[in-house]
Amino acid sequence: MIIDLHVHLYNEGWVPGSWMNAIGRALSAYMGKDTGDFPDPGQLTAEYADQMRDETGDKLIDDMDEAGVDVSVIFPLDYALGADEPPSGTPECIPIADQNRIFGEIAEKHGERLVHFVMVDPRRKGAISILEQGVTKQGARGLKLHPTTGFYPDDPVCHPFYEKALELNVPVMFHTGTQPAPLKAKYAQPVFIDSVAADFPDLKIIMAHVGHCWWEEALTLAGTKPNLSVEFSGWQREFLIDPNRFYAMLRHALDVIGPWRVMYGTDNPYLKLAMSSKEWVAALRDAPNSDFSFSKEEMDIVLGAAARRLLKLP
Ligand SMILES: [Zn+2]
Repeated sequence: MIIDLHVHLYNEGWVPGSWMNAIGRALSAYMGKDTGDFPDPGQLTAEYADQMRDETGDKLIDDMDEAGVDVSVIFPLDYALGADEPPSGTPECIPIADQNRIFGEIAEKHGERLVHFVMVDPRRKGAISILEQGVTKQGARGLKLHPTTGFYPDDPVCHPFYEKALELNVPVMFHTGTQPAPLKAKYAQPVFIDSVAADFPDLKIIMAHVGHCWWEEALTLAGTKPNLSVEFSGWQREFLIDPNRFYAMLRHALDVIGPWRVMYGTDNPYLKLAMSSKEWVAALRDAPNSDFSFSKEEMDIVLGAAARRLLKLP
């Protein structure tokens, strides 16, 4: 069984325009890094927005079928406060409560193939009830938080969320590491999540992207606190630069915390622009043939068994 623990769906009005523009700028910088010829970011944004649009989840299911992925975990993105959404006036994005409801409906429509997490900025009014509704009424199986919009995970404003997640018996996933503008990486350093793991030792916490640039920090912290897990979406970029960079991180992760707290993810549709799901799954299936020693059993756990247990899937 293969479970992709980290997927978004894209549609107009679901993420701030400034975020999409920043993706265009980051892509342009990447595409022009060798030649110094940078493609027009605005054009890239428009082109990729068109490719990524999937308001029903149907494109995602096709992609999962192609890659052999059984289940994907989807969540919306609540970036508006990080993008300075005007406190009064017309918000640029449709309300996050509605987005969470829509994601619940999409997951329900696709039966066992899609699972959803609630995502809400904890600084919003009524955020706790969005979490509670999402889990008790809409079938969400977890909470995703994005500190890069401007809060630290150990800020007391977040504590009621951790208490609620414990009460509802669902895990909390944090974005860790870098992100394009207007979001800020400093809030997403794993050490701030360590404080949450210390104060809420029964809370199951997933550090998405293994902390990116702070991967050693993330794994060292997880080595001392068993309620911390990692998910390695976003590492397609390192794999494309040098597969051994990714395999070395993965081997280290398995050596430090074992396979049951290390999980597969893509961060699609954004990372699909760099590497297809099919190729990313193949990179894991090929890991036992790499310069590092991985067993097939380890890969089976990392690709699905660990997430299946965490999410209590049949
Ligand atoms: Zn993501």
